[in-house]
Amino acid sequence: MTKRIWLDAGHGGHDPGAVANGLQEKKLVLDMVLYAKRYLEANYKGVVVGLTRSTDVFYSLSQRARKANDWKADVFVSAHINAGGGTGFETFAFPGAKGETRRFQQALHDEILTTMRAFGQVTDRGLKQKNLAVVRETRMPAVLTENLFIDTKQDAAKLKDNDFVKAVGEAHARGIAKYLGLQEGENDNPAYEPKPKAYYEKGDSGPKVKEIQQKLIKAGFPLPKYGADGHYGDETVAAVESFQKKYGLAVDGIAGKNTLAKLEEVYKEVTTPKDTRKYRLMTGAFPNAEALTEALERLKKDYGWLTYEKADSTDLNPTYRIVTGTFTGKDTAEKFAEEFRKEYGWTIYVKEA
Ligand SMILES: [Zn+2]
Repeated sequence: MTKRIWLDAGHGGHDPGAVANGLQEKKLVLDMVLYAKRYLEANYKGVVVGLTRSTDVFYSLSQRARKANDWKADVFVSAHINAGGGTGFETFAFPGAKGETRRFQQALHDEILTTMRAFGQVTDRGLKQKNLAVVRETRMPAVLTENLFIDTKQDAAKLKDNDFVKAVGEAHARGIAKYLGLQEGENDNPAYEPKPKAYYEKGDSGPKVKEIQQKLIKAGFPLPKYGADGHYGDETVAAVESFQKKYGLAVDGIAGKNTLAKLEEVYKEVTTPKDTRKYRLMTGAFPNAEALTEALERLKKDYGWLTYEKADSTDLNPTYRIVTGTFTGKDTAEKFAEEFRKEYGWTIYVKEA
């Protein structure tokens, strides 16, 4: 049975959530959720992940719960960053929650806390219960995580580290997987292949974003900090903008149709090994010396820039054939071979010189 997981990145759009130390809650939690989604889809069989938001947009608390209910999610997780001058990690479930919800909270809490502590000391503020709209209005086991305090220096230092944000996102994924008993392995459920998108922009993540990043790097637009991590963040936006600038495209940092087409072209150009081998064209046999001479004259008239020889004069073939001078690269030779076939109706062979 496919498990349906709903991930809710808190805040968004006009609501930045907590803001301090140059950090915004809405951005951090979106990153965490996107990392969690990617991790779930890459590492477990039979999962499908729904998101409240994958970009910087706002939904009300009730809308968030309703989306997950309508989608018939099996579990719901809302990711947040704390503020108010404390320190550490805590999770919330609805007051009085026990059984499944309690088990879910415990699995998430343990996995995330353990992961955070790999980055240094983290206070465990415990498994808590609170009447929060998203855990009240959702019909499935629902937990809200408060991932450190944005306005406390030591916590903010961790949140500034993308490796930490990624690790915490992935810990959410593992906690969910443990609770649901997900089976590790490639997610091979074809029903849940994400639909190919026409364009990619900031906030997107996944294998297609990774492919775009790899091509950007190959095309000479490096991503020095994060590399091809499959996450379309500020660094990718900047690289796409440089690319667009260089190739005279509209500079918006979005990998749309024109940008993707140009990137593909540039990528092919830099990665296709240049064929430097030499090729000649050779005609089929003409019926007699007269026909051969006539053919030679036509060629010299139409394609005077190329040299021609009678094949028998080169020992390539004793019959009435013509061989041309050389072309560099098989593609070029094939192109002219096709042109000659169309033009004259002759048999034309491409031969390595
Ligand atoms: Zn929040």
